Amino acid sequence: MKKGSNNHRLFAEEKKAVILFLCLFNLLFYFWDVYYYYIRLYIGGSFGTSRDGLGPFIYFLMLLPIFVAVYQLKKGKIFLIKYQYLTFFLIIDTIDNLIRYIGTNHHFASGNIVEVLCILFAPIFVNKKYFWFTSIGIIGKYILIGLILQDINVVFPLLLYLILSAVALIVLVRFYSYINSLTDVYEELKRKEKLAVIGQMAAAIGHEIRNPLAALKGFTQFQLEKYQINNNYFPIMIEEIDRINTIVDDLMYLSRPKKIKFEKASIEEIIAYTLSITQQQAERQGVTVEIIIAGPLPPLDCDEKQLKQVFINLMKNAIESMPNGGSILIHVNVVVIESQQRLSISIQDKGMGIADENILNLGEPFFTTKKDGTGLGLMVTKQIIKDHSGEIKIESLLKKGTKVNVILPINKKKD
Ligand code: ADP
Ligand code: MG
Repeated sequence: MKKGSNNHRLFAEEKKAVILFLCLFNLLFYFWDVYYYYIRLYIGGSFGTSRDGLGPFIYFLMLLPIFVAVYQLKKGKIFLIKYQYLTFFLIIDTIDNLIRYIGTNHHFASGNIVEVLCILFAPIFVNKKYFWFTSIGIIGKYILIGLILQDINVVFPLLLYLILSAVALIVLVRFYSYINSLTDVYEELKRKEKLAVIGQMAAAIGHEIRNPLAALKGFTQFQLEKYQINNNYFPIMIEEIDRINTIVDDLMYLSRPKKIKFEKASIEEIIAYTLSITQQQAERQGVTVEIIIAGPLPPLDCDEKQLKQVFINLMKNAIESMPNGGSILIHVNVVVIESQQRLSISIQDKGMGIADENILNLGEPFFTTKKDGTGLGLMVTKQIIKDHSGEIKIESLLKKGTKVNVILPINKKKD
């Protein structure tokens, strides 16, 4: 669905609602008023006492906002109509009431059927601002009239409108929660669509890049060994080729069907391997690593290669968050959640932390705050953990550090 077509649909819906509102409002207003002040009295045999307040003049006055509304509908400026219309009506009606009652000893006996319509119709516009505008406007009008006339009789319509407003609010809230759940589904679909496109692109590009990259790496290594050249360029070239390879691997992970080969593996070995890979980078940046492993740990049902990838990604992020050195604490222990044994592995750094506004973006494809980051690490990490029926939680405090907690079921559920 395109955004433009959404807007177009919203516009059409609003237009329909405005026209319906105007028709119902005017039908009710004119019929009710004429019935109440003329027909009813005529049937009762007292025709001629007629309408006081603004008198029949009000019928001409109320034509004014109709002309304005029709003009605005033609111009396509439809979103303000309902506000203007209601404001105009409330002002005219207040004046009508005040003229009718001020300086007389009549008791206030009013309340207008169109106001009931306005309140009950408000949720149709699915607009909280308009709902509050209507309710507060109408209830405010009675409070104002009550204060000016010092008449307790306004309490009746006031109570009635409070109850109607509560009902309308419940309807509106239900509308909103329904719309929100629809939007969530739509967002999720969009995210999946985006991932699918990235996956297809990755498969195509990755495939094309892989082979030349392998050749390049082979020849570079060959040159290094053959000529025994003693400069730093060759190791850097090999390192950079490896870096491209990891990026391609990350991208390819998305396109591959997620067939996981579950086998028993030792988490101690996986962590040890991760450390051996990341050790060099940690040393270079003056980062120390402390590991606490609680007790003998049972072997874990997992795809060892993929879990290594997870912890390498997490360790790299932790190290990269401390460019001026620091410490990382890895904590591994067994926990029981919902009577199932699980492994909890947390990696805690004392790095720069993650800003609140970025937390929700973690794991989105290509979200990165680093100059040469890819923004793929956490996405792949989350996917692998999900494929293992595990969970990942990230807590972070800006300038204090980040704690990433991974929880994995020890035994794969039999399916
Ligand atoms: P990349 O590392 O290539 O940027 P990732 O997906 O691994 O991509 O991480 C995405 C972003 O999440 C990083 O750019 C960083 O802003 C943030 N992040 C992840 N882990 C940490 C951490 N331990 N400390 C601070 N920021 C982190
Ligand atoms: Mg990373």
